[in-house]
Amino acid sequence: MSANILVTGGAGYIGSHTCKALKAAGYNPVTFDSMVYGHEWAVKWGPLVRGDILDGEALDAVFRQYAPQAVLHFAAFAYVGESVSDPEKYYRNNVVGTLSLLSAMRRASCRHIVFSSTCATYGVPQELPLREDHPQKPINPYGWTKLMMEQTLADFDHAYGIRHASLRYFNAAGADPDGEIGEDHDPETHLIPLVVYATQGRRGHVEIYGTDYDTRDGTCVRDYIHVTDLADAHILALRRIQDKDESLTVNLGTGNGQTVREVIRAVEKVSGRPTPAKEGPRRPGDPPGLYARADKACELLGWKPQFGDVETIVGTAWKWHEKHR
Ligand code: UDP
Repeated sequence: MSANILVTGGAGYIGSHTCKALKAAGYNPVTFDSMVYGHEWAVKWGPLVRGDILDGEALDAVFRQYAPQAVLHFAAFAYVGESVSDPEKYYRNNVVGTLSLLSAMRRASCRHIVFSSTCATYGVPQELPLREDHPQKPINPYGWTKLMMEQTLADFDHAYGIRHASLRYFNAAGADPDGEIGEDHDPETHLIPLVVYATQGRRGHVEIYGTDYDTRDGTCVRDYIHVTDLADAHILALRRIQDKDESLTVNLGTGNGQTVREVIRAVEKVSGRPTPAKEGPRRPGDPPGLYARADKACELLGWKPQFGDVETIVGTAWKWHEKHR
């Protein structure tokens, strides 16, 4: 019988792609999701349990029913702007919710957790590419919640022997290459889906946030990583923390940065259509460049991004959004 893995936030974008990867790797993903942002159609590879990570009794029930071997913890709120205007919502769900999950893991003697962290914990880069030992000084409450969650995990490792993988994602993008699932946020704030929508004619235009940065074409540089590559890294990280019984922290990026204009050009190329775009002012809080030094994950996990180049990434996104207009 295949081992159960509890996937909090398994009905979300990265969580659902990872459930597919788990199933393919021989596990049974058990999604635990509040369905505030999750989608029922995205839960295809195992059972869906509706529940909130703040609800200890609901967590106890799912641990009793499925006796999961480990937890993959995606459930978190992730809108940077909203975290600034409503920090209580973010600290409660992300920080208190993670504490609630970890308490339930202790009660159930479940000792391995893979955690979705973020490059937003670094804040404004002092040096690029970003290495894992770069100082962590978040510049918004969202980044702070993720840093606090990383710290909680580190302390729970030391005190209780709960081993974790903290995976610091750069910009997750793209869709399942088989077209079974894809990205669907409401509201959508991310660059690639917004460029796709504008190119499809579903939105007027995409606004380029700032064209006067000190980068190769004046627009911001980000490290876009395909969601299937992220999903695969979770499986490798899970195996590694279980086999070695030790925690790890790695960046998940490609190490390559793309500018906003390069992303738009890639969408125009894969779609064969022009993208209506307008130049606008900078978005507050955006650092000019954010890209990873990505070799630690490759070395430690034996991970290699398969869908690294930006045209492949936006090509899978385009295909998904064309199918699901
Ligand atoms: N961006 C943009 N227009 C948009 C949305 C995003 O120019 O409508 C830029 C944004 O300033 C950043 C990059 O695209 O430089 C990626 O933004 P996104 O919100 O996708 O991810 P972030 O890097 O903020 O996590």
